This record gives sequence, structure tokens and C-alpha cells, in this order.
Amino acid sequence: MIVFELICPEHHRFEGWFASSDDFQSQKTGGLLTCPNCGNSAINKLPTAKLAKSDFTAIDAGSRRTTGSGSSAATPSAMPTAEQLHKVIDYFLANSENVGNQFADEARRIHREEVSARNIRGVATREETEELIDEGVPIMPLPVPPQGEWH
Ligand SMILES: [Zn+2]
Repeated sequence: MIVFELICPEHHRFEGWFASSDDFQSQKTGGLLTCPNCGNSAINKLPTAKLAKSDFTAIDAGSRRTTGSGSSAATPSAMPTAEQLHKVIDYFLANSENVGNQFADEARRIHREEVSARNIRGVATREETEELIDEGVPIMPLPVPPQGEWH
């Protein structure tokens, strides 16, 4: 999943959760994306995805499948609650390979299909995260607690 900041022609900003960039495009093309404030369907995404405040961000990348419910609804009401987000994070921690600070390189290799697609997690700097997003690599910044607090 990836979260985009979206904006309508009336400059209302909102967030949409998508399985991938392609998912955003297909929902937009299909007219499924509308502004929650004015209903306008001429939605554009802002150039940078939302980032966590920390300089170091744990990210998920490389998954070709949608996790969990497979929901790709873009309406704000479909945005995950904190509890749902924790479940997503727990799922990733249990079902992903920790590549540590190799995250950016590995995410690129997966994106270019140089290695087999799989869920990975790790850390990346804010700059690396922005580069990956610019390159269209499907990543998702997650607020993951320190390793000692994982269960
Ligand atoms: Zn609007």
C-alpha cells in the first residue's frame, strides 16, 4: 500500500491509499477518485508522498500483491484507523525480510525485477525515501517501534 497526498482543482487536499501507482492511475482514469469536499473528479497527486517525521523511516516495498483485505478504496473514510495500521505493521514485521540499511538498494532491485519480488523492510533516509517515491517504487513509510518493542 502507498499513501498519496491528493489535491483537487479547488485546492482541497486529502489522502488516498492505493495498492500501487498503477492503482491510483486506474482509479483516476475510471473516475473513481473524487474530492471528499467538492466531489470534483479531476484529482491530481502531489509530487511527494507523505513522510513520517523521523529522518529514519521503516518502509515496506516490493510487494506485488495487496496485503490484508486487498481494498484499494481511495475514499478518506477507507483510510486505516490506528488500530488497523498497527495490524498492518505487525503483519509486515512477521511477513517481511529485514534488509536493514540496504533497503533502498534492495527496493530498487525488486522494482526493476532484478530479484524476485518479496516483502522487505528496513530503514532509509528521508532523501532515499523521496528518491524511491520519485522513481515510482511502491513503498510505504511506517511508524515502526524500536526492535526491542516488537513482539
Ligand atoms: Zn475539492
